[in-house]
Amino acid sequence: MKSEKKEELNNCELLNPSCDDVVSPAHYNDTTSSLNCQSLENELKKKWIPKKLLSERLVLCYYRLDLEKKAERVVNCGTFLEFGRVEELGGVPPGAPGRCSGDAPTSTNFKLHKANFCRDRLCPMCSWRRSYKIFGQVSEIMNLIGSDYDFLFLTLTVPNCTADELVRTLNSMSKAWLNLVRHKRIKSILKGFFKALEITYNKSADTYHPHFHAVLAVPKRYFKSELYIHRDEWLVMWQKAMNDYSITQVDVRKARSKKDLKFADTAVSSLSSAVAEIAKYAVKSSDYLFDDESLTDKVVSVLVPALAGRRLCSFGGCFLKAHQVLQLDDAEDGDLIHIDGELRSDIAVQIYRYGWSCGTYKLVEIRQKEKNSD
Ligand SMILES: [Zn+2]
Repeated sequence: MKSEKKEELNNCELLNPSCDDVVSPAHYNDTTSSLNCQSLENELKKKWIPKKLLSERLVLCYYRLDLEKKAERVVNCGTFLEFGRVEELGGVPPGAPGRCSGDAPTSTNFKLHKANFCRDRLCPMCSWRRSYKIFGQVSEIMNLIGSDYDFLFLTLTVPNCTADELVRTLNSMSKAWLNLVRHKRIKSILKGFFKALEITYNKSADTYHPHFHAVLAVPKRYFKSELYIHRDEWLVMWQKAMNDYSITQVDVRKARSKKDLKFADTAVSSLSSAVAEIAKYAVKSSDYLFDDESLTDKVVSVLVPALAGRRLCSFGGCFLKAHQVLQLDDAEDGDLIHIDGELRSDIAVQIYRYGWSCGTYKLVEIRQKEKNSD
């Protein structure tokens, strides 16, 4: 069965060549274009192809678990990618003020313009895009509110649990989070938060380790007043919220920008990156895709129902308000293509279309982008 499915994976409907065929771009008459897209080819090789290959391993696992619908969705994830090429003159894109029509470009950037993503929770390709998107959103929010508050990093853990206990543990943690942020002591300091769920898998003990990473916005006077909450108090409040006094680990620390930054703007942007760092993967693919197929199948069959319909990250208070002011879309279910407002379609000069075939991305077409066209 595995070899049949593997063969299916290699048949790319977009291109339909045999594996030895060289795919010639249909409208490929600009010889300089091939030289110009070297940076894009490198990015595909370094970032996109490894993710797509991991997604294919997930597809095989879904087939083995008879999760055919999921397998078919993921197999079609990222089978075509279109990138817009934007030429800039010293950072000035075409058509922008200060750019003369005869000026030669000094840099070429490629931005994803169109793609077909499956949005499966465990798809490594989509998880990667989602983590980028959340990172971008948190950075934007921090740039807006970063100088108004101080910020805490809070990590809330529970004892490792077995596969059978995972869903129940995740449900208890969601409820406990609500209890925690409604606690009188915390309510008095909490101005907003960003929270993300992460689950890791312990192979040797065959247990799961779910935990929350959160960033809390607190008043500027938090560290020098009666508002300050000691780490041991955080632990007691989390134990109480979880109704589990065996919990021993709570980590809380001040979010800091690099010490040597004297200018407020730079300090805020350094702080944003530190905060956005927590917007990582809910589950890293290395925690469920193994060389051992039976182990992969076992862990994936536990994670699929545990993650189904579950919110993996959320914004509250001033973070949520900033999210609305910035008109950001849903961090989990929103657009996975334009993840940081990256391509204005009217400034791309050329579109490069790639198709997935035989374990790699091949250039299918290069076309000129007409102004304001889609
Ligand atoms: Zn996907």
